[in-house]
Amino acid sequence: MHISQSSKSADTRWYLGVHCRKCKTPILFGLDRSEGQVQSVAPRKLLLTCGQPECRHQADYSESRVDRFQRTPEPGKRS
Ligand SMILES: [Zn+2]
Repeated sequence: MHISQSSKSADTRWYLGVHCRKCKTPILFGLDRSEGQVQSVAPRKLLLTCGQPECRHQADYSESRVDRFQRTPEPGKRS
């Protein structure tokens, strides 16, 4: 059986995000184009809503520390 080597590998880019203040779920809001080489700075106004349906917590993350997240391929549904 031949397995194609040309298929695109997983998304290895880095994303900027913060942790939801309520449920601690990462909220990604942008792509980190610096590839981790530049200190990330949060936009002046950063109003984000949690993506978790059970949470939906909205908060101002302007003063929060911005973290980097790498998307991991999800093999299925994570509980
Ligand atoms: Zn949340």
